[in-house]
Amino acid sequence: CGIVGYIGHREAYPIVIEGLKRLEYRGYDSAGIALFDGTDLKVSKTKGKVSDLEERVETQISKSGNLGIGHTRWATHGVPNDVNSHPHVSNSGDLVIIHNGIIENYESLKKELIKRGYTFKSDTDTEVLINLIEEVKTIEGVKLGKAVQIALNQVVGAYAIAVFDKNKPEEVVVARLGSPLAVGIGEDEFFIASDASPFIEYTKNAIYLEDEEMAIIRFHKGIKVRKIKDDSLVDPYIQELQL
Ligand code: GLU
Repeated sequence: CGIVGYIGHREAYPIVIEGLKRLEYRGYDSAGIALFDGTDLKVSKTKGKVSDLEERVETQISKSGNLGIGHTRWATHGVPNDVNSHPHVSNSGDLVIIHNGIIENYESLKKELIKRGYTFKSDTDTEVLINLIEEVKTIEGVKLGKAVQIALNQVVGAYAIAVFDKNKPEEVVVARLGSPLAVGIGEDEFFIASDASPFIEYTKNAIYLEDEEMAIIRFHKGIKVRKIKDDSLVDPYIQELQL
């Protein structure tokens, strides 16, 4: 399984698809992508290979957009099918997530969200997480990064996630616990991936998040890394990648 993301001045689609192919060695049963082009959020996903996803995209969505996140899934909760594939979108249609890992307490969280009126399309633990983030954001009236942080502090499990809000497409929030996550830092562009192979030809500078760290990535503004538990700011080590 793997995650890839891009925010910057280039078209995200080819970078994300090529990146997912480079992560195929990690194993997966489904693949999906979300793109934002300044107006529309476009999601396409399918059981099967990245090449199946490419075919589906051709008939389903336009490939334009400077913001994109892609996923290869290794199903843990919910059978491998199109609906359970990632990305998952929150009830409002605004928040999008890709996730590798497991949310162990998803059942109790899901029950609580259903009581509060949330509905679920998939059988995944991941769709619970994105709606929990949405609920926190709404109830607490906080920004996306804060909502992700508060939600993750209610979660038991493992994750590498990337989340964005289509109403704030200059920002992507990522977090890690138990699943790898690297951020490539280019000139006014950022790459997100399970390892550096999807972005090695674009930049040699990368931050590898540690467990229990999250990062808020802002186009034109930079990246801030924080500890998920106590909110303390981390001075990230920018590693120079070797070919
Ligand atoms: N637990 C999530 C799911 O089953 C993510 C699986 C993965 O790591 O790809 O959808």
